[in-house]
Amino acid sequence: MPRRLFRASPSKLLAWVDCPRRYRMQYLDRPAPPSRPQRAHTSVGVAVHNALRDWWDLPVEQRSPAAGAELVRTSWIDVGFRDADQSIAWRERAQGQVVAYLDDVDPAHQPLGIERTVSLKTEVFTLQGRIDRLDDRAGELAVVDYKMSRWEPTDDDARTSLPLALYAAAVWKMFRRKCVRVELHHLPSGSVASHEHSGESLKRKIDEAESIAREARRAEDDYAELGVDSSRFPAKVGPICQWCDFRAHCPAGQAFGPEKSDWAALEQPAPAAARDPS
Ligand code: SF4
Repeated sequence: MPRRLFRASPSKLLAWVDCPRRYRMQYLDRPAPPSRPQRAHTSVGVAVHNALRDWWDLPVEQRSPAAGAELVRTSWIDVGFRDADQSIAWRERAQGQVVAYLDDVDPAHQPLGIERTVSLKTEVFTLQGRIDRLDDRAGELAVVDYKMSRWEPTDDDARTSLPLALYAAAVWKMFRRKCVRVELHHLPSGSVASHEHSGESLKRKIDEAESIAREARRAEDDYAELGVDSSRFPAKVGPICQWCDFRAHCPAGQAFGPEKSDWAALEQPAPAAARDPS
């Protein structure tokens, strides 16, 4: 009998790569261990993503940069900040970044997709994910991902990003239109990091995702038999442990060092896996 396909998402695949123990707690252990409260940089990222999404729902004549700033205000999530002053300062900073960003966006050029769910099926997995924005630029499709991190992404980050490549491949299949351009739009700096894939490089990324999915599925099969006694979910201890949502349930991770404060990523770059949502 053919095996059921592994149900994947870009974040699930990366969770496996980052730390199998965390993956187990997040996706397999039931009841799931409670995760820690949301951090401030996540609040900032979610509010800005929501504002940039809702901006396109406004009538075209109302899509001004100032309207974007107002949407940041109404979308603001006051969670994880040190105090009210820090929350207000970061809200104003995010509003300024959104205004500067939207200054360069043509409000009349409606994207092909906004927070568009895409899916991709291979012989190994069925994957679902959500694209921040899908542009159609005179016939050329481009996958756009917003970034709010302190760290500024490079073209190499766009080239090596597994989620971006999988999104491009999914769009290509779903729309039956070539999609090879991927972009990281970094609002704090106003920079755009980009890469043009080829059919071959997208295929290599799908191969990479399949390899991760196979390994995670083998571990899940073992878990189905042995539960938490399975040895296939080692704790991958490192700097990420200081930011991990599940460290309260992980003595090995706690031993690495003290937990970062809820607002620490506003003041210093967090490791990749703890960065803002996208
Ligand atoms: S604290 Fe570290 S080792 Fe433990 S689950 Fe989190 S990332 Fe993995």
